[in-house]
Amino acid sequence: MARLVGEQAETLPAEPSAELEAEVRGLLASDLLPRAVARDYGGFSCPDCGGPLYHAKEGNVVSYGCAAGHRWSPQALLEQQTDAVERALWLAIRSLDERSRLTEGLAESARQRGHAHTAARFQDASKEARLAADVIRNAANGMNPVTEAPATDEPFPDVSLTD
Ligand SMILES: [Zn+2]
Repeated sequence: MARLVGEQAETLPAEPSAELEAEVRGLLASDLLPRAVARDYGGFSCPDCGGPLYHAKEGNVVSYGCAAGHRWSPQALLEQQTDAVERALWLAIRSLDERSRLTEGLAESARQRGHAHTAARFQDASKEARLAADVIRNAANGMNPVTEAPATDEPFPDVSLTD
């Protein structure tokens, strides 16, 4: 085995070929993500892949693009984000409702076993979760469908690149 390795080492060229060297130099010199590097980070994440979104301005039309090639108009991005926020809020509400019911059950169980102090703590936790769920429920129900009735002084130019 040692002899085999030694023989292979002897067959390798001492210096990398000029052709290979040139190729490596070319790869190192070239910008692998020229568009992503050249663009300004838009401060948003791509709804499809979670990657950073960059400004992709063409003339007066503002849009956002990620390294994976997804393109978003501000309006389309807003719609996607509204959906994501609503999903997150309802997930939080569901979790808090479950926490409230669970701690309510634990409070009842503790009461039956005569553990008044523990029962009170679970009861407090249940109430706390119920109140938090109500606050978020109100916020979720009060979210305006901004994409359906845009204000007259729109903050973004009217574009529909993803339509
Ligand atoms: Zn993307």
